[in-house]
Amino acid sequence: MTTPHLVTRDKTRRIMVGRVAVGGGAPLAVQSMTNTDTRDVAATLAQINRLAQAGCHIVRCAAPDMTAALAFGPICAASPLPVIADIHFDGRLAVAAVENGAAGLRINPGNIGDQRAVDRVVDAAKAHGVSIRVGANGGSLPKDLLQKHGGPTPAALVEAVLGHVAMLEARGFEAIKVSLKSSNVLDTIAAYRLFAAQSDRPLHLGVTEAGGLLAGAVKSAVGMGALLLDGLGDTLRVSLTADPAREVEAAWHMLAACGLGRRGVEIISCPTCGRTEIDLFSLLAAAEEALAGVSEPLRVAIMGCVVNGPGEAAHADVGIAGGRGVGVIFAKGRVLKKVAEADLLAEFIKAVAVAQAEYRQN
Ligand code: SF4
Repeated sequence: MTTPHLVTRDKTRRIMVGRVAVGGGAPLAVQSMTNTDTRDVAATLAQINRLAQAGCHIVRCAAPDMTAALAFGPICAASPLPVIADIHFDGRLAVAAVENGAAGLRINPGNIGDQRAVDRVVDAAKAHGVSIRVGANGGSLPKDLLQKHGGPTPAALVEAVLGHVAMLEARGFEAIKVSLKSSNVLDTIAAYRLFAAQSDRPLHLGVTEAGGLLAGAVKSAVGMGALLLDGLGDTLRVSLTADPAREVEAAWHMLAACGLGRRGVEIISCPTCGRTEIDLFSLLAAAEEALAGVSEPLRVAIMGCVVNGPGEAAHADVGIAGGRGVGVIFAKGRVLKKVAEADLLAEFIKAVAVAQAEYRQN
């Protein structure tokens, strides 16, 4: 069963990041960023491969020096994903990354040198068919804008990013996407909304410096969730102080919750209560591990009691509910069979395999 699609996506211009379409109604593209030393090609590629398996569409790598920029050659040649180079302060690094296969650049035109340096980067991107993301960040707005707007307000962010876009447009460059980030979630939401009301450039969504796994995912879900439900956003990254693969996982949970995308199994589970008579936490962890590789968009349920579990998870394609010594396997709220608690997980995995086969046949 699929979630009804309730969101009407904003129609932005389409650009390409390598072979991935961004904007213009293309599916939302999930991004993450490697945290390996980019100069370590083997470690960076290993992480990129892991991100690809987790469902990442586009990956970004930092290029803090020329050795890292040149490492884009072997990285891009072997990467299963388009690779964006993240550049600060030195336009020559951006040119080197582009010449070595980067599919996109993330720059702040205000900090990579004078107009001539910006022009050289833009010309290299144009010559190689590479897109550029320009971003305004509340922490690095120019003084004149801060004075004019009385601080890093949403209007100041929008004016800053429109200035960056104009610099690229003046050079005849169009493959642009935009991000606007404040450390304040509500300002970030307001800035994206304000920008979208006056531009059809595709949007990269992100909430900057969100935090650790739980706090960061929640903060990102509030900020990006509001925008996604507005129909805004063409690509997104959940920034977490955690393994980058968890960023991808969190992004997919967010897209699924907004009815904007599904990947693999959705596991629903009850919060447990005084009726719970099995170790549901361990059972859930084991089920998550066992189902990590399932790509069919099934909804499965792990419930803590036989009395209420099947009814509470009536919409699940397959479910288990455990009790003291015995559990049940159910589908769409109907109990299929009773099994000993010790066999519950194995029987559940068999039932999921049957549901997978049925999904593939239909
Ligand atoms: Fe409690 Fe059962 Fe509901 Fe889980 S399914 S919360 S154990 S009543």
